[in-house]
Amino acid sequence: MRVIKSIKEMQNLANEAKKAGKRISFVPTMGALHKGHLELISEGRKRGDLLVVSIFVNPTQFGPNEDFNRYPRDIEGDLKKAREMGVDVVFTPTIEEMYPEGFQTYVEVSKLQNHLCGIFRHGHFRGVATVVLKLFNIVKPDVAIFGEKDYQQLKIIQRMVKDLNLEIEIVGFPIVREEDGLACSSRNSYLSHEDKECASTIYRALQEMKIEFERGQLSAREITEKGKRILKRAGIEEIDYIEVCDPETLESKQKATRGDIVAVAVRIKGVRLIDNIKL
Ligand code: AMP
Repeated sequence: MRVIKSIKEMQNLANEAKKAGKRISFVPTMGALHKGHLELISEGRKRGDLLVVSIFVNPTQFGPNEDFNRYPRDIEGDLKKAREMGVDVVFTPTIEEMYPEGFQTYVEVSKLQNHLCGIFRHGHFRGVATVVLKLFNIVKPDVAIFGEKDYQQLKIIQRMVKDLNLEIEIVGFPIVREEDGLACSSRNSYLSHEDKECASTIYRALQEMKIEFERGQLSAREITEKGKRILKRAGIEEIDYIEVCDPETLESKQKATRGDIVAVAVRIKGVRLIDNIKL
């Protein structure tokens, strides 16, 4: 496995692979690799001849009061896991090379970013879209895998690829969960054992909301009120949002229909967790 820091070196390697007729698959991450990442990597392994995983904690997608500084980092552990998964290249650029002095070009997916997490994390998706486009131009993938846990992110990347005519196949991968249902996330490492138990209520609430819909409840308000009650009973008071939304536009719905997404974001002792389920 090659570990590459330099942008030029990564671009050269990608060019050579392409010349040799190889299909490049790509899994972008911020590291602290967990079971969810590993499943994406395994999917990436199946879909390409040269599998590239990037590890880059992207400063432009964090707000000034967010957890950029304390975001979990474990490069040695990550490299070991990547090696075991048969990754060909780990690309870990420096912040200085990704954002040199004078950097001022950003990508905005203007409507999709104005819902759900975008309302609570100003500038977050601008940072995400920008870094992903940069990574695409460096790694030159034929296919890239993104998790459905970050559903809004997936939709934004798909839109960007379409709008900017990038020749990259974007694959959405289902949410990978812990045994208790909690969606795997690097941020779970901030949680105590007790907080994790509390956090597992998020998925239970999503399942209950889905059951409510399947029983015939179509009012998004009734469905989400039920979810809120379940979360509050478990002691989760800080709810950024629970919404039934259109799976493509992410617009909030009043009347739920099959295929809609119920998306939720909560904070447990300041740790922000997101999850979603398809109705
Ligand atoms: P991150 O390192 O958190 O930026 O995530 C890197 C990629 O892994 C993104 O495409 C995420 O959506 C995906 N991912 C993170 N957690 C999960 C999960 N529990 N299930 C599926 N995909 C995930």
